[in-house]
Amino acid sequence: MGCDPRHEILFEPVRIGPKTLRNRFYQVPHCTGFGVEKPWSQARHRAVKAQGGWAAVCTEYCTISAESDETPYVAARMWDDHDLRMLAVTAEQAHELGALAGIELSHTGAHGENSESRLPAAAPSQIAGDFAVGLVPRAMTRRDIRRVQDDWVAAARRSRTAGFDIVYVYGAHTYLPGQFLSPHYNRRTDEYGGSLPNRARFWLETLEMVREEVGDDCAVACRVAVDRRGALGVDLDEGLEFVSLADHLVDLWDVTVGSIGEWSLDSGPSRFYREGWQLESTARVREATRKPIVGVARMTDPDLMASVIRSGVWDLIGAARPSIADPYLPEKIRQGRVDEIRECIGCNVCISKADSRRHIGCTQNPTAGEEHRRGWHPEHVPPLAQPLHALVVGAGPSGLECAITLARRGARVDLVERGGMVGGSMGWITRLPGMGEWGRLVAYRAVQLKRLPGIELTTGRELDADEIRGWGADVVVLATGSSWAGDGLNGFTREPIAGADDALPHVLTPEQVLLEGKRPPGRRVVVYDGDGYFAAAGLAELLAGEGHEVELVTGYDTVAPFAAETLEDVLTRSRLHQAGVAMRSATTLPGIQPGRVEAENEFGEPFTIAADAVVLATQRVSRDRLYHELEGTLPRVHRIGDCVAPRILAEVVFDGHRLAREIDQPDPDVALPYLRERPMQDPPPAPAQPPATLALPERSQPRPRRVELLEGAAGEVAARIDELVRGRGEVVVAAGRGAGDDLEPYRRLAERYGGRFAVSRPQVEAARATRAELVGASSHVVAPDVYLAFGISGAIPHLVGMAESATVVAVNTDRGARIFDYADYGALVDAEQVARRMCDGPPLG
Ligand code: SF4
Repeated sequence: MGCDPRHEILFEPVRIGPKTLRNRFYQVPHCTGFGVEKPWSQARHRAVKAQGGWAAVCTEYCTISAESDETPYVAARMWDDHDLRMLAVTAEQAHELGALAGIELSHTGAHGENSESRLPAAAPSQIAGDFAVGLVPRAMTRRDIRRVQDDWVAAARRSRTAGFDIVYVYGAHTYLPGQFLSPHYNRRTDEYGGSLPNRARFWLETLEMVREEVGDDCAVACRVAVDRRGALGVDLDEGLEFVSLADHLVDLWDVTVGSIGEWSLDSGPSRFYREGWQLESTARVREATRKPIVGVARMTDPDLMASVIRSGVWDLIGAARPSIADPYLPEKIRQGRVDEIRECIGCNVCISKADSRRHIGCTQNPTAGEEHRRGWHPEHVPPLAQPLHALVVGAGPSGLECAITLARRGARVDLVERGGMVGGSMGWITRLPGMGEWGRLVAYRAVQLKRLPGIELTTGRELDADEIRGWGADVVVLATGSSWAGDGLNGFTREPIAGADDALPHVLTPEQVLLEGKRPPGRRVVVYDGDGYFAAAGLAELLAGEGHEVELVTGYDTVAPFAAETLEDVLTRSRLHQAGVAMRSATTLPGIQPGRVEAENEFGEPFTIAADAVVLATQRVSRDRLYHELEGTLPRVHRIGDCVAPRILAEVVFDGHRLAREIDQPDPDVALPYLRERPMQDPPPAPAQPPATLALPERSQPRPRRVELLEGAAGEVAARIDELVRGRGEVVVAAGRGAGDDLEPYRRLAERYGGRFAVSRPQVEAARATRAELVGASSHVVAPDVYLAFGISGAIPHLVGMAESATVVAVNTDRGARIFDYADYGALVDAEQVARRMCDGPPLG
């Protein structure tokens, strides 16, 4: 099978600045929880994607200094040469597998808790961030701005040395450059605040400095939220204007929406956002640039991807979550195996795992995050050494995964399900409002069931212990799942609730509502949540939609607390509010009576709530009777998934996968130990080794010189400089902040001398009209024979650029400008007047 011709457009190479992507699949930066503390996990996680066909793989956000320490969250870091060594492995492994490596250099600004470094957060203005609780930053001085920009340049230099091909100046999700850009965070009254060009200045300068630093060795990417969508960034008009302003400094636009406080806008969970919804904003970026654009939209459908590319709005298909769920997504499209794509379900458990739990995992892909430490590969499993006949009882998420993985290893598998179809708990989960896309968990595995030889599926048959014992299988795996407690057993009181019995008409469980059609006998319903995730909220919404008067009561301090980790908490509560559901937190229910429930607030004060029925989503209980009947009566009987302990889907899928991988170990019930990355293990017991050449190249220093001042007015100075320049070799004409707004005289002057024109970074806005020609007009890499510095105060790149020049001439009205410490000749006159005299006078040379 080959690539569908309609999808071939996705495999065209794309040039970004000095680099070429082999196709249009781009893994945008995303968190892993690995940072630089788990460099081998970091490298392997990205490498598997490179192997699966992604043209570029990027690190997560990578902070540039201790001032942007993200602790307690785990970010990558490029603070020093040790970090360089940790991340060089990622770049090296990506290259070995044909992908470019990107690094998302960032500064947290107002959002940085700096819990490890204990430094105050730094931001454009002293406005509290919208991410960390109670965090008030210090307002950055101009000196702070220069220092942060220097840190960014140093991190870019290290990134280049580490082998990265794409270097980001990241400001999306309202990180520091985005905070400067945003009028909500930026209240400055100096040249870095106020108008959009002023608010853009920090970002533009930083882009230019990074560009000068990495030269043609790396592509420069800019990740920007072009539309705040009600959050704290900039609106779409200003977002597009910023793209236009910065376009000459950028090789690749990586475009998003929203801010970190409303991150769910960008990483929209499928319960609330359809696939591709961000295109409403990000497709507009094409209006402001012809440069390559990458965007994300949780896309897994190659038809949709191809149509987006054909429309011209994006050049690259960006993906974080789809690349986690299926690292081989590009390769499967290329091979025409589209039905085998393990499609992301949009649950955001990966975000919970990476950010809150510090080690990435995925509901769909049990190998995500296990590539290094367990050596798991998403597409390859080791074959069994001996033939094996396995009976798997239960075809829910865990049983399906176990059966499929065993079959991939070569086992003969009988999969027996008591229900009429496969899916287990997914039967009730996917009936909740907005949860249909989660059905992909079953859909992917249903295709595998059909494709894999060796699996025999039987549905509608409930086996008892004797039948299992008589089955004749070498190994029995019980995946019999769990049920919601019908007696109100809960984690708040650790007891059942008095009067709770799901045999009564006014007491209901989620399964009874969703699978059996049982409904409350009256209008008023209390949904009691002890689970803290989606079940109770979904049921409340469902019943409210059917006309019930619903109150959601929970013993937690907030409704659906786990949903905060999946970016769904605010969305959940908003949707409940819109549906007319009343919410009461920090409340327990000691008793249920017909017509009312007995409640207790967090201070132990009792009260009653009038209710015709109670839906109990308090906790689930393992269906493990069969296991206990069989335990000790068969040589090899195991249990997995909810049958062991009810957990989130990601864990039960993992459980089934792990058991299948380790089924031929002496005791598969006990997980094999995994590699732990520890500081003393450097290098660790893994095949990869750090690259040999890691020393940072020394940067040349400007040479101090004794300046001879040229006397006279502009005309006399012009003539004198002309004498100095003629016949001396290659000339660079560099214009700085004091050169005026019109750069044309300097450009023409460079042409007259047959030399090069360069621009100092504060000129970015002044040069807008001619910005395309400024790309690459970096002065520090040229080391000309003669360096004419007009209006330059002493920007380091320019000082370094002229370090090797034989003759340096500086024209600046400010005698205190540092440039005079490094110039052979100087003139204290207006730079623009001199330049005009020189280029408009009689022919030179
Ligand atoms: Fe997609 Fe969920 Fe996997 Fe994240 S955890 S990649 S949202 S399936």
